[in-house]
Amino acid sequence: LSRLRDRLSRSGSPLGARLLAVLSKDHLTEDDWDELEETLLLADVGAGPTGELIDALRTRVRVEGLKDPAQVRALLREQLVALVDPTLDRSLHTDPGTAADGSRVPAVVLVVGVNGTGKTTTVGKLARVLVADGRTVVLGAADTFRAAAADQLQTWGSRVGVHTVRSDRDGADPAAVAFDAVRTGRAEGTDVVLVDTAGRLQNKAGLMDELGKITRVITREAPLSEVLLVLDATTGQNGLNQARVFSEVAGVTGIVLTKLDGTAKGGIVVAVQRELGVPVKLVGLGEGPDDLAPFDPEAFVDALLL
Ligand code: GDP
Repeated sequence: LSRLRDRLSRSGSPLGARLLAVLSKDHLTEDDWDELEETLLLADVGAGPTGELIDALRTRVRVEGLKDPAQVRALLREQLVALVDPTLDRSLHTDPGTAADGSRVPAVVLVVGVNGTGKTTTVGKLARVLVADGRTVVLGAADTFRAAAADQLQTWGSRVGVHTVRSDRDGADPAAVAFDAVRTGRAEGTDVVLVDTAGRLQNKAGLMDELGKITRVITREAPLSEVLLVLDATTGQNGLNQARVFSEVAGVTGIVLTKLDGTAKGGIVVAVQRELGVPVKLVGLGEGPDDLAPFDPEAFVDALLL
């Protein structure tokens, strides 16, 4: 929690300061409510959820006759937490499974998303978390489109001390590399195979073809435990539109929201969960190997409100 606070506050989040300014008055005027609404919109909470939240808050403030700004703040916190939904299952499924023939198969985590959102970095950080947790890990460099991507992943692999399966040539079939990685993991009795993919958003049909093929060949070897969609928190609504396409084609099971350290727009968590109906499971808080954290709604809202 303190690290998240530290990171979010270093990004100079104006949300907490603005909210605090409004909510420290003894009487909320119409202008104050507008300001509150604007602040939430600026933090990318999204129009729908913001409207609902303000309505609910106003009603409760009126009905309960709340005057004390501290009480209003507590109520706002409660409502924000409810919006983020603390009841969702955010655990990451990384336990090895069993194939139809009874043999042990690794948990396969497919990582998808638009280029530049932080997929490769997330795979590297996640590998580190898993290794620290005593798991064995293999990385699959199925982003064969960008020449440097496999190198970048392999660098992470060496750093964390895990094997990276890759192709020697650019433009190789990503599905073939993914298949290789899972097969290698299976042969070596690895616990988890993390597969990095290319994020070409050429068009929906192309993406569907590519991810569909990757998924099909992987599941010939082992079931998919997780499909994580990586989303850059700094891209706001635009990122959300792209995310929608991925979630439609890839059967996403969880979201990784990266670059939360570089934005005051943390409210995107609310918007993205609402929009995609999938929980945020992990957050990226920097470029370093230790900058990946499980997403904790309460800690997150507290950090937002700082
Ligand atoms: P990919 O194209 O989706 O694989 O994206 P990369 O993993 O190559 O990341 C793109 C850039 O974002 C790199 O410079 C990363 O260091 C940076 N990055 C990734 N995650 C985070 C994060 O959580 N915070 C910050 N500040 N930078 C990040």
